Amino acid sequence: MGLYNTILSDIRCPNCNQRLEWQSKRITYDGYLLANAMQTIPLTQHISGEMHTSCDECRIFYEVEISTGEEGPLMSSKIPSPKTAQRN
Ligand SMILES: [Zn+2]
Repeated sequence: MGLYNTILSDIRCPNCNQRLEWQSKRITYDGYLLANAMQTIPLTQHISGEMHTSCDECRIFYEVEISTGEEGPLMSSKIPSPKTAQRN
């Protein structure tokens, strides 16, 4: 199923500083798993789970764990691309 929720986070792509739209399929509110229903969820202390996105420009996939509204470290992995050009 392609349903998810959108997470309101200000984390931008650290590579190109582009705004990212963060999505999640696993968010809990005070421990209760939320339905994936295309809702927009602000990061408050009630929210835990994960969020992920990708920067189309840099072809990097990003993932962040959320614990009581706090964003954990940004984990990134390169999206395989036919073009191997990478600006750093
Ligand atoms: Zn980027």
